[in-house]
Amino acid sequence: MRRRTMLKTVGAISLSSVIPKVSIASPVEYKEIRKEIETEVLIVGGGTAGTIAAIQAARAGCNTILVENGSQLGGTTTTGGVAFPGLFHAWGKQIIAGIGWELISDTIQLGDGTFPDFNIPTRRAHWKHQIRLNPYLYALLSEEKCQEAGVQIRYYETPTQATWENGRWNVKTVGKGTHTHIRAKQLIDCTGNGFVTALSGFKVLREDEIQPGTLQFKIGEYDIDKLDMKLIQAKYEEAIKKKEISQTEFRSIAALLQNQGDNIQHILGADSTTSETHTIANIKGRSSLLKMLRFLRTLPGCEKTKLVSMQPETAVRETYRIDGEYQITHEDYVNGKVFEDSLSYSFYPIDLHDEQGVVPKHLNEHKVATVPLRALIPKNSQNLLVAGRCVSSDRLANSALRVQASCMGMGQAAGAAAALACKQNVTPLKVIPEDIRKLLQKHNAIVPGENL
Ligand SMILES: Cc1cc2nc3c(=O)[nH]c(=O)nc-3n(C[C@H](O)[C@H](O)[C@H](O)COP(=O)(O)OP(=O)(O)OC[C@H]3O[C@@H](n4cnc5c(N)ncnc54)[C@H](O)[C@@H]3O)c2cc1C
Repeated sequence: MRRRTMLKTVGAISLSSVIPKVSIASPVEYKEIRKEIETEVLIVGGGTAGTIAAIQAARAGCNTILVENGSQLGGTTTTGGVAFPGLFHAWGKQIIAGIGWELISDTIQLGDGTFPDFNIPTRRAHWKHQIRLNPYLYALLSEEKCQEAGVQIRYYETPTQATWENGRWNVKTVGKGTHTHIRAKQLIDCTGNGFVTALSGFKVLREDEIQPGTLQFKIGEYDIDKLDMKLIQAKYEEAIKKKEISQTEFRSIAALLQNQGDNIQHILGADSTTSETHTIANIKGRSSLLKMLRFLRTLPGCEKTKLVSMQPETAVRETYRIDGEYQITHEDYVNGKVFEDSLSYSFYPIDLHDEQGVVPKHLNEHKVATVPLRALIPKNSQNLLVAGRCVSSDRLANSALRVQASCMGMGQAAGAAAALACKQNVTPLKVIPEDIRKLLQKHNAIVPGENL
């Protein structure tokens, strides 16, 4: 058919046959959901540790609910964009495996990524054994594995109340149009901030000063090899003097350009413990990036600098820690103390960031720290576990314990402890540690005493 004939034919079709019929909207009530649900294990916080804890509890046969206030799983690893977990290996041997390692291996495989060569010792360059992940795939696979294991995920929800009554946790959550009352036999706090621990009345600890946070982003469209770095350094120093940019936020212009923005910004006081403080941290991270981007575009050779990607929130390093049945000390950490109830390993330099940046302190050869069950239990609590960066520890030990491989190991340990406590109808402190270790090994985790 010629074009003009076709247009005429289309024009001849009456309008009523093209425009779909719509009914007239009448006023209705907004459909909110109010529910009461029972579960065996409830995990709050679907981040680095919480996702693993949930998969472990569900794979061990427990009815499991995972409440997450964001819109995807992975927390700091995905939403925060810290997609370079470490350290799974120490002194030439793997020390953390299990569900976290399975997720990482699947992410590497699906994204055609590569593992570092773990046989080459890193010496002081520990980051060489961190694994560069595609965070989008990691989030997708986390969700898929949760669903395959039978974990019920509830996004956009946060607890408003958590009370221990008549041998059950009663946790009330609110979300977008939801009001949920969840009754659970075992509760695991994986919020990274000890939020549920504090909400249920147990003590949390915090220093006056916390480590800075970082908004992860990527910049591009300049040729690093063609830049006059001497001139750029001079302009950077001049801009700092004039207070156009902040030196504490970007300590090295060379590193910023070399790394294309990766893990380079420092936002002092970044705090994710309340919506209000996290809003401030996000706005500070973004406005600091915007200022820097405008400055970069004034530099010779960087005029076309582009913002290639940016995470949706400023990642936070440190807030509250729980006051547990045991507090892991700096001495325990650097001496690789093994406890009767150690459930997982942790290996990283002491890594405390401050206004000046960070100078990691490496562990002595063959030392590998461990995490005892008691450090995952808030003091005097019942049927409550914690996993992740808010593990019970002093500040220096925590600066190493907080890394992702360690959080994944703790997450799996907490999931296994909760599952056994649930089946035995006891509080996790009463579960025999050797039984938890056996369950962990059944799910491919490496437990202290093994592999070293
Ligand atoms: C900038 C930066 C760089 C880092 N560099 C490294 C590195 O190089 N290598 C490394 O291994 N580690 C690194 N870390 C440390 C590591 O990434 C984190 O300490 C670790 O991921 C924390 O895990 P988590 O499970 O405790 O918390 P998260 O992964 O943050 O998970 C907490 C989850 O709980 C949810 N949540 C919080 N509050 C609530 C609530 N009230 N209700 C419901 N859900 C809630 C959050 O949305 C989130 O999903 C870095 C961290 C930062 C910030």
